[in-house]
Amino acid sequence: MRYSGFRVLKEALTGHKGWKPAWRDPAPKPHYDIVVIGGGGHGLATAYYLAKVFGKANVAVLEKGWIGGGNVGRNTTIVRSNYLLDGNEPFYEFSMKLWEGLEQDFNFNAMISQRGVLNLCHTDAQRDAFRRRGNAMRLNGVDAELLDTEGVRRIAPFLNFESARFPIKGGLLQPRGGTVRHDAVAWGYARGADERGVDILQNCEVTGFRIENGVCKGVETTRGFIGAGTVGVAVAGSSGRVMAKAGMRLPIESHVLQAFVSEGLKPLLPGVITYGAGHFYVSQSDKGGLVFGGDIDGYNSYAQRGNLPVVEDVCEGGMSLMPMIGRAKLLRMWGGIMDMSMDGSPIIDRTDVEGLYFNGGWCYGGFKATPASGWAFAHLLATGTPHETATAYRFDRFRKGLMIDEKGMGAQPNLH
Ligand SMILES: Cc1cc2nc3c(=O)[nH]c(=O)nc-3n(C[C@H](O)[C@H](O)[C@H](O)COP(=O)(O)OP(=O)(O)OC[C@H]3O[C@@H](n4cnc5c(N)ncnc54)[C@H](O)[C@@H]3O)c2cc1C
Repeated sequence: MRYSGFRVLKEALTGHKGWKPAWRDPAPKPHYDIVVIGGGGHGLATAYYLAKVFGKANVAVLEKGWIGGGNVGRNTTIVRSNYLLDGNEPFYEFSMKLWEGLEQDFNFNAMISQRGVLNLCHTDAQRDAFRRRGNAMRLNGVDAELLDTEGVRRIAPFLNFESARFPIKGGLLQPRGGTVRHDAVAWGYARGADERGVDILQNCEVTGFRIENGVCKGVETTRGFIGAGTVGVAVAGSSGRVMAKAGMRLPIESHVLQAFVSEGLKPLLPGVITYGAGHFYVSQSDKGGLVFGGDIDGYNSYAQRGNLPVVEDVCEGGMSLMPMIGRAKLLRMWGGIMDMSMDGSPIIDRTDVEGLYFNGGWCYGGFKATPASGWAFAHLLATGTPHETATAYRFDRFRKGLMIDEKGMGAQPNLH
């Protein structure tokens, strides 16, 4: 069924009897050509592009809970492609371009809103670093504008410019960055994949891998054994736990990251604003809530909830940037499990087990990567070769010392 304004009108006039479930609830088949583990954004996008771009329809997505219940439905919805390093920038710009056409492509309203992402700088050195990053972006054909203090004031006059402990010296703006309704991305990809024949199996937890003579033959699940020619793992925060079932230890740690939403306010924020003197990022949802977040909780955990010291830290960041935020009531908060890699960049690669592939290490930034990650992983699963924008995302970069340390801050998850 194609969604359109005309369809909404027609259904409104005929008692809404024509709507169909957006995806089926099939029973697992005994064998698929490709099994993707994890029904988050990355797993569903992989299945969608496998079917749409690579013509592979005998595919299943196995999700232990419900689709959209993981990080894809828990993030702060920011998308951007303002990266410095060559290993990252073409990949994230590929993602940005896919976001720009995504709603038409999968025929689903994901509320893609390119309202701009503004990173504030507070020292001369930070401004130099932003200038360098902006130039690197432009060399890659990506939009970037360096603003001085007055330029920032024109966009966001309510920020604390004068009396702040860290005065605002300017900012790097990516006008094409913005926000996307996170769970709609999962639903849109799920619907599009299902339409093309992909089986989406919810409540189907992978409990083990069947590996014979170094070859992955399929997966053990709570709904029985499912055979597969190729298995792709895209379970984000659960990467360590799932890959351990195949006997692998990853260069990844799982940490909690929290998100916060205030009560609904009148339109205030023009786009996404990030505070450069601490870790605080904020945007305003279409319902008016201020959506914001900060640092990871800083200890390893698989729990989807965080602790109060980080709540205090995030709120302090908000207060020093825009003190009037202290008048807003906090409505809700939650946590998600982040798959923090050691250099802050992801991995999309084959493993030592034949037929078993891995996608993970997304840290704070995997939502914006969803379309490109899905496409690149589908490329790898379908052709056995990495996509041209994802050639740097290899496991062996840690052994070879070819880190993609975007922030240049060292090999510790909490620094990224
Ligand atoms: C609070 C917060 C804020 C964030 N903000 C941003 C942001 O603003 N911008 C940005 O780009 N990124 C952001 N991120 C990061 C982003 O959300 C993640 O990197 C990304 O969503 C991870 O990929 P995913 O969608 O596939 O993960 P998930 O949605 O977590 O999908 C993984 C799925 O695997 C399933 N699974 C796990 N184990 C098994 C198993 N054994 N068998 C079957 N299924 C299994 C899980 O149930 C889950 O549904 C944020 C994350 C959090 C938590």
